Amino acid sequence: MLLVLKIVLIKLNLSNIKLQDYGDNVCCFACDASLWCWDPEDDPWIEHCRWSPTCPYLREEKGDEYIALVQASINQEEQVNVW
Ligand SMILES: [Zn+2]
Repeated sequence: MLLVLKIVLIKLNLSNIKLQDYGDNVCCFACDASLWCWDPEDDPWIEHCRWSPTCPYLREEKGDEYIALVQASINQEEQVNVW
């Protein structure tokens, strides 16, 4: 769990997020989106796109094209995986 969190923090740029006191909850400094329950294969940027696609930091770092691409692939994924 801690190793996963460390990887997440490095990928997201450690100085730019607040680490909560509990669990593996991380919070974006720009949009206050909280993300948790990390898996080793999770990509922090993709997860951020999934939960807070309008974040100004996300848009500046990755661009609208990337966000649109991620959103499209998430929609596709959800159509394939019937829960
Ligand atoms: Zn954000």
